[in-house]
Amino acid sequence: MEADHRIRVVVVGGGTAGWMTAAALATLIPGAARVHLVESAEIGIVGVGEATLPHLRAFVTRLGIDEAAFMAATNATFKLGIEFRDFGAIGERYIHPFGTYGRPLAGVGFHHYWLRRDREATIPPIGAFSLGVAAAADHRFARPGDDPDDLANSYGYAYQCDATRFAPFLRAHAEARGAVRTEGTVATVERHPENGDVTAIVLTDGSRIEGDLFIDCSGFRALLIGGTMDEAWEDWSHWLPCDRAVAAPCASPEGGIEPYTRATAMPAGWRWRIPLTHRVGNGYVYASAFLSDTDAMDTLVGSMEGRPLADPRLLRFRAGRRRRSWVGNVLAVGLASGFLEPLESTSIYLVQMAITQLIEHFPNIRVTNTDRDGFNALVDGEYDRIRDFLILHYHATRRDDSPFWNHVRTMAIPASLAEKMALWRQTAQVSQYRHGLFLEPSWIAVYLGQGVVPEGWDPRADLPDAAALDRAMTALHDGIAATVSGMPDHAAYLAAAA
Ligand code: FAD
Repeated sequence: MEADHRIRVVVVGGGTAGWMTAAALATLIPGAARVHLVESAEIGIVGVGEATLPHLRAFVTRLGIDEAAFMAATNATFKLGIEFRDFGAIGERYIHPFGTYGRPLAGVGFHHYWLRRDREATIPPIGAFSLGVAAAADHRFARPGDDPDDLANSYGYAYQCDATRFAPFLRAHAEARGAVRTEGTVATVERHPENGDVTAIVLTDGSRIEGDLFIDCSGFRALLIGGTMDEAWEDWSHWLPCDRAVAAPCASPEGGIEPYTRATAMPAGWRWRIPLTHRVGNGYVYASAFLSDTDAMDTLVGSMEGRPLADPRLLRFRAGRRRRSWVGNVLAVGLASGFLEPLESTSIYLVQMAITQLIEHFPNIRVTNTDRDGFNALVDGEYDRIRDFLILHYHATRRDDSPFWNHVRTMAIPASLAEKMALWRQTAQVSQYRHGLFLEPSWIAVYLGQGVVPEGWDPRADLPDAAALDRAMTALHDGIAATVSGMPDHAAYLAAAA
């Protein structure tokens, strides 16, 4: 029998992060990695995380998972974006779509022309020039086509799915491709006496699992990256003070299913509402310095738009991340590597990004510093950019109705965000970066949605004659409205696909 020279990968944790990692490694690099996952029924999984980003589609496709099977197994609905209510000011709302606004004209972004005409005349809000926004607002959905230059395809979509069903679905996929699972709780961790690398984990029943590379997917416990490697924690709670959430499902109301997640600003944080096919997920993310747990639970239950299906669950967290996600031969993925609140549904994306980078930097025979440093630099960049984008949602507000909003409105923000906001205010330009989430349309959505209106715009947007520009904008607006009116109702589309 031939010797098995593959890297022995031990995944600690069987939540969404653990099973996404195991499924990806077992499917995509079966010749390089031998995957063994350990999960503890005694500890369980966090079991929240229902709203996702469009990137998850690429993950599902790359792993050869059938979209319809995945959606049926997780009671998923389609998601065109997030509706934000009461963030800029009470009574205001906007949709942050997965898609663009208008089309560039003579190489200049559409929003520059919109800003000009909005200053000069009464024109429709910028959302009326986004197919994703218009379809979401009308509760319509159809998968976009393949031609990216066609306005009818100028949007993307993600899923809203039952978090408790995603990991078991992936487990079946991973096990079918050779991943081995052990049920048990890790009691101790053995390390190499000289280099400090982890050599094995020992479970409470005494069984011992050796490995070459250990992936810490143990959730907030951060068993290996925190507990064993003692990697420092970079705390961001001074910018993102929400540190708790209460979550509870309720029955779906009669009528349609919104193809979007809703985030409603509350006196001490914000509340999510995520419609699935069989129920609605609800939660209140709040800062415990400004609100008691009991008040948060009462508010959540009182605000639900359907019969509660379970008692609210309390979750505690801290905003921040490990200084490094990959230390020695331990690599943290998921909540073990850091936490950014789910305001823009970014956690599962961060899991996916870490897995992609792990595969890119997967050790050839042994772990090298180059692989580790490359991985850590990319993960850091992703976290930092998402952090700034989340802080914007709090800081760009005119709300002064509660101590919480007064705090976030007036707090000092990271220099990197202050620079981005100054650039926008002066020139209507969005800072560009090569890697990371949230490109120009996302920043435009939040800036304009929350009343951060720039002083100027690209001077080239002043060149076209106003009447010609209006004709082009009207044609665009009418084209979007006509396309949306031809799209099926989201609930009907889901029913037809089932
Ligand atoms: P967990 O699900 O906690 O899994 C940890 C695993 O480690 C479990 O299997 C556990 O049993 C195991 N384990 C721990 N200790 C041991 C041990 N000693 N021995 C053996 N096994 C052990 N993300 C999104 O993308 N969208 C959202 O809308 C969203 N909403 C969220 C809302 C809230 C309030 C919170 C807190 C998070 C949200 N997230 C969201 C994040 C999302 O839930 C997580 O990123 C995702 O579930 C991955 O979690 P995990 O697998 O890292 O951790």
